[in-house]
Amino acid sequence: MNNTELWQTVLSQMQFHISKANFATWFQNTEIISKENEKIIISVPNAFSKEWLSNKYNKLILKILHNTDESIKDIEFIIKPQPIKNSLTKSSLEVKKIEESQLKFEEFKIDKNTNLNPRYTFDNFVVGSFNELAHAAALAVADNPGFNYNPLFIYGGTGLGKTHLMQAIGNKIAEGDLKNKKVKYISSEKLVAGIVSAIRTNTMENFKASLAPIDVLILDDIQFIAGKTKSQEEFFHVFNSLYEKNKQIILSSDRPPNAIPELEDRLKSRFEGGMIADVSLPDYETRLVILKTKLQEKEADLPEEVLNYVAINVKKNIRELEGALNKILVCQKLNQPLNIESVKKMLSGFISSPFDVANYKKIIETVAKFYNLEEKNLFDPTRRKEIVRPRQVAMFLLRRELKYSFPAIARKFGGKDHTTAIYAYKKIDKENEENNKLTEELNLIKQRIYSG
Ligand code: ADP
Ligand code: MG
Repeated sequence: MNNTELWQTVLSQMQFHISKANFATWFQNTEIISKENEKIIISVPNAFSKEWLSNKYNKLILKILHNTDESIKDIEFIIKPQPIKNSLTKSSLEVKKIEESQLKFEEFKIDKNTNLNPRYTFDNFVVGSFNELAHAAALAVADNPGFNYNPLFIYGGTGLGKTHLMQAIGNKIAEGDLKNKKVKYISSEKLVAGIVSAIRTNTMENFKASLAPIDVLILDDIQFIAGKTKSQEEFFHVFNSLYEKNKQIILSSDRPPNAIPELEDRLKSRFEGGMIADVSLPDYETRLVILKTKLQEKEADLPEEVLNYVAINVKKNIRELEGALNKILVCQKLNQPLNIESVKKMLSGFISSPFDVANYKKIIETVAKFYNLEEKNLFDPTRRKEIVRPRQVAMFLLRRELKYSFPAIARKFGGKDHTTAIYAYKKIDKENEENNKLTEELNLIKQRIYSG
């Protein structure tokens, strides 16, 4: 067996152990370049691949090699840079290829029956510690809809992959062995509009009948139903009739059920009755994997230093990461030079300075919005519970995140005695340690404050 065949063996076995996206990212442009005594030398294109492969896959690769050829006892990764395709030297043929592939990418059609977009699949969904629970639950649901986790409730901030993951479940079911199952993706806005119009035209029975044959109902952004009493009532019946027939229900929201304001208790408890999983922010390494996966999907290429710069600096969410990448690819197509300086300029809108993300206005705005209040309500001199708690949270965050002094906080809240501010801070601080619900709320609020 020559080196190429040997490496092919490793690659074909590695595919079973890691996701397609990770595989494509870390094993692209790798090869065995030599065998020295009992050691195999593997070349990788850059320092990131080297680090990843030696930290995460060293053992597994060695095991496969050793199983194939017992004389192999050790491996070593060395960096062999690939010639960077500079945009200035890109031939018109290559530019055309980018254009075509981008076109190809956008050409995906939304299926009229299921409302699913085929571009959202498990194969191009990158998994990391920030989303692995949600991913695992989603896979389990796709394999056995209606029986594993029902409902599946996925929550997290905007642009973190909720829609992608839910649609991946739908696509897997619609294309796999279960393709006779009727899948339907509906945004909660559409659902509410449907219910409202059915009420108005007195056709609620027809509306419900249209949902009855669905085997897998995917409802995106269910927080939208908050405060809409009539819609909640009708939806409750729809939910029950599907649920009783073991039909799978998948929901997403920007927050967990117990933090959705003005959601009927009976719906809340239905939503909490299955599996609740969150998606959060990817770390730097995962951002890099995501960028590389997207590049491959688009059949494009960028210098490593540019990718690295984007992964370090665009942290808000995955949608922004993708937006930043697309912007750079357009500039590349226009033959603009690509280096850290030029990319910094291209991405000025995507990168926020750590100093201007959290400020007084942002905290007040975010807390009020989170609790479905108007900003001025937070300053109402009232003892109503719905206001007191959010006000205390706002005071707590001003202290904790911005290091405001207690008298300064008191001044902001209408010159109150500053012991009120101290009391609020201590109360929230203490509860934060004892009460998971509050901790979760604080985390979600902070996530929003810092995500721009
Ligand atoms: P949300 O519904 O949470 O607001 P989306 O599912 O719309 O977020 O994701 C925003 C964009 O980021 C989409 O283009 C999606 O494909 C991409 N994306 C999100 N999470 C991932 C992931 N884990 N791997 C690859 N792409 C992702
Ligand atoms: Mg979404």
